Amino acid sequence: MNSYRGKYLFDGEKLVENFSFTEENGIIVNVGKYNDVPDAKDLGDSFVMPGIIDCHVHVTGNPETDQLEFDYDNPVETGRIVIEGTCNMKTILKAGLTTIRDLGSTNGIAISLRNGQKKGVIQGPHIVCAGELINYSKGNANGNDKRRNYINGVDMAREAARRQFALGADVIKLYTTGGIVTFGDEYAPCLFLEDEIRAAIQVAKRYGMMSSAHAQGKTAIITCSNAGISSIEHGVYIDEETAAVMKKNQTFIVPTLSAPHFAVKEGLRKNPDDPAHKGSQSVINTHNTSFTRAFKTGVPAANGSDTGNGFNYFENAPYELVLVSKLLSVENALKIATSSAAKLLRLEGKKGVIKKGADADFLVLRENPFDNIETVMDKKEVFQSGKLVI
Ligand SMILES: [Zn+2]
Repeated sequence: MNSYRGKYLFDGEKLVENFSFTEENGIIVNVGKYNDVPDAKDLGDSFVMPGIIDCHVHVTGNPETDQLEFDYDNPVETGRIVIEGTCNMKTILKAGLTTIRDLGSTNGIAISLRNGQKKGVIQGPHIVCAGELINYSKGNANGNDKRRNYINGVDMAREAARRQFALGADVIKLYTTGGIVTFGDEYAPCLFLEDEIRAAIQVAKRYGMMSSAHAQGKTAIITCSNAGISSIEHGVYIDEETAAVMKKNQTFIVPTLSAPHFAVKEGLRKNPDDPAHKGSQSVINTHNTSFTRAFKTGVPAANGSDTGNGFNYFENAPYELVLVSKLLSVENALKIATSSAAKLLRLEGKKGVIKKGADADFLVLRENPFDNIETVMDKKEVFQSGKLVI
């Protein structure tokens, strides 16, 4: 049993001053006032908050090469991804992320990492896991559609979703729009057909999995929301009508503001003419407006950095809180990264809060983020199930 007390605590929902709490066997058993537990370890002016929950991570990604894909048939390559993913787990935990949702790894390797962490074989965050991405057909140009979950029609949609369940996925991830691309007359159109989206989500629901969609444009977002998707990722184009639909269906938005931020900051510095990075630059303002509009309309939000993608380094994942705080407030940024994210992951009351009955996953920060939100990027103490892990 360990008890702590100090000046400032964010309990997942609000700021509490002069707190104490006690953990036993990795679970918080009591939260009270500073004077309640006189022999508790005094954390002084440090700031305590729940471990950050990041709902959009690619744990097997490589920010340097921006490659999620690799040569499937080469066992040496598979081994490399497993080793890199295992190392990334540690970096992610050290950054202060104690729970993550992995949204797509080649061959579903993140599922193995999730299992390894659960068994205590490797150190890292608790993972809620999608297996492989479910993508729209590229017209079978490379003859490899099925292998890569490039679906074409409802049967393939169902099969791809069922395959994720068989692999052990907790959530499916649909890649419904391209990146920053335009075909036809809508920006980032929906490249799945509606029945394909409905079929995949129906399978997910029936099998008790959650669902998520990479969706930028209006048609994709509205179609997924009405089909019962759990969360929309990115959501660059959310107008008032789209926000109203998401609110009605209580579909979460996971904005991943870090993705274009780092693509522009680092990507353009290294490759000034890269069209993908230029595309990201052109949508940052729209993306910010869309996210703010959605949140103010009443769409629930959850933190997600898209870390693991190009230039989006694992150690920078907490920067998403800084970006969100600039649009909303520090309190909202902290809430979105803790109790609100836990709701999306069906971990309400267990993760993302410092309350009786919750897992003792918490951070001790040097400074008060209400004074300086950038302190979430500083070196910190990370506790997982009550143990100082880093
Ligand atoms: Zn992603």
